[in-house]
Amino acid sequence: MLVAGAGLPGLAAAVALARAGLSVALVDRRPLAVPEPDPATWDARVYAISPGSAAFLRSIGAWQALPEERIAPVETMHIEGDRGAALRFDAYELAERALAWIVEERALRAALVEQVHDAGVHVVAPAAFASLAWSSVLGTLALDDGRRVSGRLVVGADGLRSWVRDAAGIVAEPRPYGQTAVVANFACERPHDGVARQWFRPDGGILAWLPLPGARISIVWSAPEAQAFTLSTLEPDALAEQVAEAGGRALGKLSCITPPAAFPLQFLRLPAVVAHRLALVGDAAHGVHPLAGQGVNLGFGDAQALAAVESARGSVGDAGAPILLERYARRRAAPVAAMQAVTDGLARLFGSKAPGFAMLRNLGLTAVSKFPTLRQALAQPALR
Ligand SMILES: Cc1cc2nc3c(=O)[nH]c(=O)nc-3n(C[C@H](O)[C@H](O)[C@H](O)COP(=O)(O)OP(=O)(O)OC[C@H]3O[C@@H](n4cnc5c(N)ncnc54)[C@H](O)[C@@H]3O)c2cc1C
Repeated sequence: MLVAGAGLPGLAAAVALARAGLSVALVDRRPLAVPEPDPATWDARVYAISPGSAAFLRSIGAWQALPEERIAPVETMHIEGDRGAALRFDAYELAERALAWIVEERALRAALVEQVHDAGVHVVAPAAFASLAWSSVLGTLALDDGRRVSGRLVVGADGLRSWVRDAAGIVAEPRPYGQTAVVANFACERPHDGVARQWFRPDGGILAWLPLPGARISIVWSAPEAQAFTLSTLEPDALAEQVAEAGGRALGKLSCITPPAAFPLQFLRLPAVVAHRLALVGDAAHGVHPLAGQGVNLGFGDAQALAAVESARGSVGDAGAPILLERYARRRAAPVAAMQAVTDGLARLFGSKAPGFAMLRNLGLTAVSKFPTLRQALAQPALR
């Protein structure tokens, strides 16, 4: 089995498949080596890991390898509309320890890379993909350094602009949201008490403050492109002032502790996530707006589902058999479509400046806030 791409979902897929008893090779153009942890700094890329993803990562040995002091639980989520409507989710109300766990990318990566080695995955990196050829029984990836790697199944885990997907003839063009996400970390004057905050702004932007360990937060500000460019080029003090102001100074004064990074946002829905001896996972299979912090969680869900299908294949000897690929595609169709419908719907509803929409979206938030059962129904897919 060949996993092409070692982002977080690719790493998790490689480990889960190897732990399911398959022989796995993992290829990426970047080296897999992990930089030494630096306790004095914080990674600007952080993820809100759902309890469902945390349980999966625990099952493959990665969650327990994370340093506890670098993880922050989200105990409450407070969401505000652009006309004063508000909605609150509480872990306690949903009978969960946390709604999500905020973890740095580099910590997740280090924990997963350790498991890749521990599970006996054959690592081929750094090497970029050069060509992909299929026979009736194998997919063979030729690499730019002349090496070739083959497998009965190729797992395309190479991100939103997947080369593997193109090479397999699955045609789909990501649709830009016209927004760029600016991420950065800040020290704050007042404690955040485990509360994540999100504001849907009148300009169509969405600002999220996520708790980090100690009196620190990480922000994701999905802003119209011109504004995002301005934000990402501000001096640290000016950026901190804008972020504090945009969040109503909910945590007092902010100071920037990690310079901003910017990510253009794109939506992607595919006609198919499997083809002859190919399964797509992670952003190669779907692109979602980060407003619900679910992209990597969907990718972990793909990795978990694929490994579950493979380990329950019984008498089907061929790991790339069409029946297994169909099972995988069926398992992922509903959860991915549901998450895309919610995140894309919200991004459009709150991004629209059309008359009437502002009232509609704020009425919607208020209505949901009044019905605990509806709140629970909305939270469940994000938790799992
Ligand atoms: C601002 C922002 C905030 C986000 N926050 C969250 C969050 O809180 N929670 C959450 O769940 N998700 C979040 N996401 C989504 C998440 O970042 C993505 O879903 C996830 O990183 C996708 O991982 P991937 O491995 O599929 O793709 P990538 O991370 O793009 O990895 C692809 C891998 O393939 C390799 N590769 C690509 N092409 C080639 C090639 N030709 N040859 C060799 N190797 C190749 C690359 O080197 C890379 O290692 C956020 C996204 C953004 C933009």
